Amino acid sequence: MISIPKYTMGVGDRFGRQGEAQLSAMIAARKDGIEVCPVWNKSFREHAIIHTEPPSVRAEAVAAVAALGWDAPYFVDADHINLNTVDGFIASSDFFTLDVADAIGTSADSGDVDAFLARHRELCAPVAIEGIGAPVTLSEERARAIAEKYLFAVQEAGRIHQRVVDARGAGTFVTEVSMDETPEPQTPDELLVILAAIADEGIPAQTIAPRFSGRFNKGVDYVGEVPAFEREFRADLAVVAHAVKAYGLPQTLKLSVHSGSDKFSIYPCIARAIQAAGTGLHLKTAGTTWLEELIGLAEAGGEGLAIARETYRSALGRFDELCTPYADVIDIDPAKLPEPDAVDAWDGPRFAEAMRHDPSCPHYNPDLRQLLHVGYKVAAEMGSRYLDALEVHREEVAHHVRENLLERHIRAVFP
Ligand SMILES: [Zn+2]
Repeated sequence: MISIPKYTMGVGDRFGRQGEAQLSAMIAARKDGIEVCPVWNKSFREHAIIHTEPPSVRAEAVAAVAALGWDAPYFVDADHINLNTVDGFIASSDFFTLDVADAIGTSADSGDVDAFLARHRELCAPVAIEGIGAPVTLSEERARAIAEKYLFAVQEAGRIHQRVVDARGAGTFVTEVSMDETPEPQTPDELLVILAAIADEGIPAQTIAPRFSGRFNKGVDYVGEVPAFEREFRADLAVVAHAVKAYGLPQTLKLSVHSGSDKFSIYPCIARAIQAAGTGLHLKTAGTTWLEELIGLAEAGGEGLAIARETYRSALGRFDELCTPYADVIDIDPAKLPEPDAVDAWDGPRFAEAMRHDPSCPHYNPDLRQLLHVGYKVAAEMGSRYLDALEVHREEVAHHVRENLLERHIRAVFP
């Protein structure tokens, strides 16, 4: 089976131009002793909005790896795919994020729930888990309720996984099960039941992406109680380690944090927790690269700044259209969005300050940042105008992309 390295980072690149800049961040980290393996990811939704096809991500990764002489592993992730969308990704991906969030809450066949509980009597008694003070104790009713909520979703993951196995062969790819894009978090005891079910389904999951407590809004910091997050995250790590032993899941199984980018306030506790537990981590932080492109263009002035201003004006005018698909993962207060005429009066550095995620800067505007995060469709519609600007300002943009990944993400999270 293809094994996933201990530390992996999901890097997204909506327009497919920053592969080398992203990889150069990993190379710089490696020189400092931080081994992080890149996973280029792009979801069906992003491909649909930008009008690209999955093989383009593989081509970008291969080109970046060749150009920079990267000799360590890398992956191409079919991100957030389901039975309807998986087929187009099969040939060009070797990492599959099976998204079954929509299937949560659909009850499995009652016979299947009964059989699951009969097979897992241990879940209805206190389960001692190393690293968690008190045993996880589920009543029969609670275990049944969790199974009723999640078993169908896990079975759905099994169906998607099987589809990939039939097409590619077993063991030729990394499997992630993701349940993060849902309004309600999964608790550590729910995660235990889910992992038992994943093992039963024969899914060799190497990463699992639960929905954690708190808000993971796009491009902005974590919203929630950080100490509570740290307790939950540590409990999840302990549950994963327990499930590997108890249910024979892959030794490489680790948590995947779909960060939505820039969860700076929880990075230190994630770093502490994985170091203390000696476990790996998959950190997905995809959209931050597109924002760095736009910051780089704004700072470049001229046509770059004009593109940034127009992107904002247009995104504001198309607020509902752009925000609706991301409703679970953004929180924008329209009252805090500046008038486009005011934005047109900003120079490049002022525009960049509003966008750049630096809470200490009085001009930083998280509402504007989130809107632009989901506003990449506007730039996609500019077509060659946007791509040409990226080419003209290649160096500046690459610098922003690289430094952002290296200094604000990789160094903050990976030991
Ligand atoms: Zn996700």
